[in-house]
Amino acid sequence: MSKILLTGPIGSGKSTQGELLSLYLKIPLFQTGQITRELAGEDSQLGVRVKAIMEKGELVDDETIAEALKSVMGKTDISKGYIIDGFPRSLEQLKLFDPQFDVVINFKIPDSAVLERVLKRHRVDDTPEAIQRRLKIYYEQTKAIINYYNNLGILREVDASGLVEEIQNTIREILSANG
Ligand code: AMP
Repeated sequence: MSKILLTGPIGSGKSTQGELLSLYLKIPLFQTGQITRELAGEDSQLGVRVKAIMEKGELVDDETIAEALKSVMGKTDISKGYIIDGFPRSLEQLKLFDPQFDVVINFKIPDSAVLERVLKRHRVDDTPEAIQRRLKIYYEQTKAIINYYNNLGILREVDASGLVEEIQNTIREILSANG
C-alpha cells in the first residue's frame, strides 16, 4: 500500500506524472486544484466563495481545502493507497488532515525551465513576471512542508527537467526501492 505525495511548482509536470502513476499503480489520484475547481462550479454558498478566491489567484482557506479533500477521499476506494497532488501546502493544513504519506516525491526544476514551459501555453495570465511571482510564493509556502518530510526521511527528489517517460521511470524506481 502506497500513500504518495507529489510536490513541485507549476510547470514541473507533476499532474502528468501523477496521472501516469495512478494508472500504473492502479490507485486513485487526488488533485486539490481539480477539487477546488469543481467546488467553484457548484451552485452553493461554498461554491460562490471558492470561485471568488480562485479568480483572485489566492489560496482556498485551510479548513475548506482539508474538508473537501477528506470528503472526496471518503467516497473513493483508497484501500490500496493513493496519490495526492497539492495537499498539504503548509504545516497548518497538515494539522487539519494528515494523509500519513509513506513517500514524498519532490519535483526539482530550475525556474528558467518552468518559464520556458509555461510561456508555451500562451495563457494571458502567464507573463514572465506573474510566473516568477507564483514560483516565489510556491517555494515560500511549501518550504516548511518539504523540511518536515525531509526530517521524517521520506522525501525523495526527482529531476523534473527531463522527458516524461524518463521522469516516470525514475519515480517508479524510487517507489520500488521504497518497498
Ligand atoms: P493548482 O491546480 O494546484 O495550481 O491549484 C489551483 C488553485 O486551487 C489554487 O490557486 C488554490 O486556489 C486552490 N488550491 C489547490 N490546492 C490548495 C491547497 N492545498 N490549499 C489551498 N488552496 C489550494
